[in-house]
Amino acid sequence: MEEGALGYGLSEEVLRRAEARGLPVRVIPSYRDYPFPFRPWPELLTWGKRRLFLIRYSGRFFRPCPGTVRYLCCGYRIFHFGEGCPLDCSYCILQAYLNRPGLKLWGNLWEEGWPELEEALRKARASGRILRVGTGEFADSLALEPLCGVAEELSRRFVEVEAPAMLELKTKVALTGGFLERLPKSPRIILAWSMNSFRMSEEEERGAAPLEERLRSAARAAERGLSVAFHFDPLILFPETVEAYLEVVDRIFAAVPSERIVWISLGTLRHLPELKEIAEERFPKTRIYTGEFVTGLDGKRRYFRPLRVEVYRRIYARIREHSPEVCVYLCMESPEVWRKALGFSPIERGGLPRMLDEAARRVCGI
Ligand code: SF4
Repeated sequence: MEEGALGYGLSEEVLRRAEARGLPVRVIPSYRDYPFPFRPWPELLTWGKRRLFLIRYSGRFFRPCPGTVRYLCCGYRIFHFGEGCPLDCSYCILQAYLNRPGLKLWGNLWEEGWPELEEALRKARASGRILRVGTGEFADSLALEPLCGVAEELSRRFVEVEAPAMLELKTKVALTGGFLERLPKSPRIILAWSMNSFRMSEEEERGAAPLEERLRSAARAAERGLSVAFHFDPLILFPETVEAYLEVVDRIFAAVPSERIVWISLGTLRHLPELKEIAEERFPKTRIYTGEFVTGLDGKRRYFRPLRVEVYRRIYARIREHSPEVCVYLCMESPEVWRKALGFSPIERGGLPRMLDEAARRVCGI
């Protein structure tokens, strides 16, 4: 706990929960000057997965998702509540993206962060423009929930402001401990699960809930009247790829009524060159970086386009067999890939933000 974060609402809440669990707490002058152990970065990352820093944050809490230059972006907004994740996926971009270790939460979130979002919600109400907000850009939205309660408190505050806005909580954990029952029963809250094949989720997503549990949680959330979403990102190509993903698509539609699904996104594995080096050291058994990649316009490595198109095309076709309506979108792909894989480009439908707004309007009742 940074000295400067003491006394703020979220800091106090985390202290209370940490104490109840018997977790050791130390007050430090500042995170910036913290004497991290002198170890190679891959090891330091692992060290940081078990240390939570409460920080007084001085940046912008509410901001547009940065997207990626030159690819179609979705117009999403981020409520930035912290950084880092206690789960450990071999493909996690945060390994190369963040340059200091540790899990971080902003102690001053409610006093100094919430007003930024509240103002945006009020503006959305006045203008009628739809606001799509998420919390999981540099973190899993729910992985630290038992220790902080951010998602629960945020959902409650969010639905109290009547506005054409939805909040998406993206995760790989299962809903436990009465969390779902404490959330407001509002379709404006979207619980979203990152999905993969059964094999990839077992082999590459350390600490995440098994897919069966994610599906069960999604079914419970939908039954309770919340909206749900699924993100197949990253799709990882291996010999049985397509069949393995089609199986998961079938399982989703068997578990959740399609009219409760706001959207399903698809994105294939992409990575910065430095991520491969870090991840292969931390996950010696992983083989996901052994495929052939091409460097995209954003400097990230991706699978060759025909391979991406084929996997998107087949998964999209299977989703359409289950539901002619559910919104499907591609992450960070060009209009050309959209056309080849899905048969249309978002530009023909008024743009990706508009497609997503319409999906939110239909399913979230806004
Ligand atoms: S759940 Fe997301 S943020 Fe957490 S380690 Fe996996 S990819 Fe990274």
